[in-house]
This record gives sequence, C-alpha cells and structure tokens, in this order.
Amino acid sequence: MSSRKTIAIIGGGASALSVAAFLDAGKYDVTIYERNRGLGRKFLVAGKGGFNLTHSERVGDMMRRYSPPRFLDQALSEFDNERFRAWLADIGIPTYVGSSRRVFPVQGIKPIEVLTVIKEYIATKGHKIRYDYKWVGWSPDGNLLFENGGKIESDITIFCMGGGSWKVTGSDGLWNEIFRDRGVLVLPFLASNCAYKVDWPSHFIDKASGRPLKNISLSNSGHQSIGEAMITDLGIEGSAVYALSDQIQSQLSNQGCASIHIDLKPMLTIEEIVKRIKNSKRKLTDCLIKDLKLEKVKVQLLKSTLTKEQFLDINVLAINIKELPILLEQACDIDKAISTTGGVDLSEIDDHFQLKKLSGNYVLGEMLDWNAPTGGYLLQACFSMGHHLALHLNQEY
Ligand SMILES: Cc1cc2nc3c(=O)[nH]c(=O)nc-3n(C[C@H](O)[C@H](O)[C@H](O)COP(=O)(O)OP(=O)(O)OC[C@H]3O[C@@H](n4cnc5c(N)ncnc54)[C@H](O)[C@@H]3O)c2cc1C
Repeated sequence: MSSRKTIAIIGGGASALSVAAFLDAGKYDVTIYERNRGLGRKFLVAGKGGFNLTHSERVGDMMRRYSPPRFLDQALSEFDNERFRAWLADIGIPTYVGSSRRVFPVQGIKPIEVLTVIKEYIATKGHKIRYDYKWVGWSPDGNLLFENGGKIESDITIFCMGGGSWKVTGSDGLWNEIFRDRGVLVLPFLASNCAYKVDWPSHFIDKASGRPLKNISLSNSGHQSIGEAMITDLGIEGSAVYALSDQIQSQLSNQGCASIHIDLKPMLTIEEIVKRIKNSKRKLTDCLIKDLKLEKVKVQLLKSTLTKEQFLDINVLAINIKELPILLEQACDIDKAISTTGGVDLSEIDDHFQLKKLSGNYVLGEMLDWNAPTGGYLLQACFSMGHHLALHLNQEY
C-alpha cells in the first residue's frame, strides 16, 4: 500500500493547475476533481482577449497592486513574475513583454496550447484528473461528497473553485453556502475589474458607444490610473477603470455611488490648455480637435457632461478637460466581471492558506477575498499562491 498522503484538489482552474504542478508526487498522491469535462475554462476565457499571464513590473511595485496590502507578499516573493516566466519557458511556453508591460505567450501560442502544456506537465508528474466531479459538501464522517455519488477520503484537501463571475465556466460560487454552514466567514461576492453604470444622455450613447478614450488618466480617492477606457451603452469599462476597482467598490459600498475624474489630456497643464485655446484662431470645437488633439469622442464627452455655458468658458472647460467628473451609479452585472472580491475572509486562513477552523483544508485563488487589477496580476496571484502552498506541503512531510 502507498505510504503517500492523498491530496484532493477541488476545481481545476489556474490555482489548481499551479499547486498540482509544484506538488511533490513522491510524497503525495494527487487528484484534481473538476466539475466540467475539461480544465481551466476561465483560463481559456481569459485567453480570448489579451491573454496576460503576468505583468513585467518590478516585484516591489507588483506587490502594491494587491489588496489587502501584504497578503500576497510572501507567495509573490517566492514565485514572482520572473520565476513564473522562467517556469513557463521551461515547460515550453515562452513569453514576451508587450508595450503595456503585460506578459503574453509568444505570438502563435494559443491559450488552449498553454493549458495543454500545463496539463501535460501535471500528467508527467503522475497526478490524476477526474472530470464530472462536482463537489457538494462533506459527509458526516468528513469525506468529500460529489454530485455523481462519489465519496472520497483524502488526507489533505485544496479548494480551488474560483470566484463568482462567468458562471458558464463552472465557477458559480455556490460553494460559499457549504463553507458558511461549517462556520467559515464567507463574504458576499462583489464584481471587480468590471464595467460601471453611468447615466449617459442618449444622444451621447448614439455617438460614442463602443469608442475608446485613449491616453487618459483616471483618479478616485487620491489613486490614479493611466490607460484606456471604453464608453458603452450602459457606462464605462476598460483597463484604466479596472485599476481603480478597489477604490470605486469601496465608495459604492459606503456611499451608494462613486465618482471618478478623467484627465483627457494628461500631457498638458490647465494653463497650457487655456493658452492654446486663447491663441487659436479656430472655432472652439475645431480648436479642441486640431490644436489640442482631443479625439472626437472626448469632445463629445465634454459637451454631453458640461452645460453650454461651462463649455464656452475657457477656464472652466480647461479644468474639466483635466478633471472631468463622472458619476458611477453601480457595478454592472457581476457575471460579466473579470474577477470578484468577497468569498472566504482572509482572517479564516493561516499563512499557508489553510482554513483555521478546518485543519487539513486549504483555499486558493479567487475563492479568497482579495483584489487586484486585471493585466496579469490575477493569474500571477493564483500561480504564486499555488506555488507557495505546494512548497509548504512538500516541506511538511
Ligand atoms: C473574461 C476574463 C478575462 C480574464 N483575463 C485575465 C488576464 O488576461 N490576466 C489575468 O491575470 N487574469 C485574467 N482573468 C482572471 C483569471 O482568469 C482568474 O482570476 C483565474 O482564472 C482564477 O483562478 P481560480 O483558480 O481561482 O478559479 P477558476 O479559474 O475560476 O477555476 C475554478 C474551477 O473550479 C471548478 N469548480 C467550481 N465549483 C466546483 C465544484 N463544486 N466542484 C468541482 N469543481 C468546481 C470550475 O469549473 C473551475 O474549473 C480573466 C477572467 C475573465 C472572466
């Protein structure tokens, strides 16, 4: 009989792939139990847009992207973006740094190939994968129960069932009730890295929906993000908005609405803008487009947000070009969010992601209540957490 301890990994997404990849098969008999007939569906969804595996910034800067502060420091310092890239390259997935400093698989490598390579790597370690295994709770004698009638005894269980968005991928968040019933503090899911509702006038939507606001800077509560946002029928989304998710969500929770300020011309000061407008011989709208090089959609946004008097007052206009206030009414549909916060409260886990109230049970990835902007930070966190736990368990026995 095998003297190895058994590990059941519940869920087969990014964090499950990571912990499985690093667990020592000499010490552990590892099986991934996934409810779907395939692994990593959300990983594949992530690959449909820009597939940011991680970000290339310095690890110290990277740590500051995660909230609450310091929660990922240890895991990230053990397995940072450089080590993640080196590991990917080792197993056959070379990456490159894009102009946004985000890290992608080199051109030509599709997300499904990335997933296949990781899956094959896990298989070479001898770990097993069971599909159609939807975990539904524990039996009275502490075994893992599955919807298909399966009852599994495991020495260690690592839960990697994801957050509460994109339910179609299998990450439906329904595990939260089972954990609550066992006395674990589980917070309601909130959308993060998502679109926010803005009450745009209909004439503005007609002209601007689907148009990007490029090279802008956004601010909220003293925090700033630089990048791009997209006007949609319902509101606003995009990388610059996602980067302020934490601040926006906290304002929405505390005040019922949030406001962001858009700097439509980050390269110029208010004084320079006023000077250019005053020196221009063109009509005001033409001057904004030709002399200030504001794209049409930015001018339309100014016109739809300001009164005619405000728009025609050069000083007021310049202030608003630099700090246009936009009221966000609420987060859009949680199921369309790139990630969610909420889930298992961090006070419930120890330094190695073990549930304090349920010894031998660990929780990784988006099941935990943390936040980070999209752009590679989410997958990096899942892989760092998986690596950290595997390292700990490998040293443990
Ligand atoms: C549209 C989109 C784009 C994204 N783009 C990026 C990006 O470019 N860069 C980035 O870093 N991140 C991106 N992300 C986020 C990233 O994909 C997630 O943060 C990451 O996949 C979370 O990993 P996880 O292991 O916590 O959960 P998941 O990847 O969600 O995996 C959870 C797994 O558990 C399974 N499961 C759930 N319940 C059960 C159960 N009861 N029993 C058994 N199995 C179960 C699910 O089927 C699923 O396979 C994107 C996400 C989306 C939706």
